[in-house]
Amino acid sequence: MSTTDLDPDSYTDMLACVQAFHDKHDFKNTGGEELTYRIALMAEELGEISACVTKGKANEALAEECADLFILLVGTAIAADFDLRQAFWDKMNKIMKRDAKMVNGRIRVSEFRD
Ligand SMILES: [Mg+2]
Repeated sequence: MSTTDLDPDSYTDMLACVQAFHDKHDFKNTGGEELTYRIALMAEELGEISACVTKGKANEALAEECADLFILLVGTAIAADFDLRQAFWDKMNKIMKRDAKMVNGRIRVSEFRD
């Protein structure tokens, strides 16, 4: 699969590309789709995102690390067999209806059960 043939605005094409990446390295049969392993990889990427911010790295580095995490998230949807696109819209629909509060000087959007 060549990424130049894909629609950059299409989640379907993003998913197909990540699936091709998994297939290329046979993640399904080599431990690459084990969820506990994937959690460790995602935590590692979150650490890299954190380092970009705390060490004041260039915005391009932050974007690349966020892309690493996004690719892992799409791959986790493949590994765990759920529709991340649908989950995204379901969750956005929920959080758009939530209230916001200022907590310690910063806005927080949550269900605020109290
Ligand atoms: Mg990274």
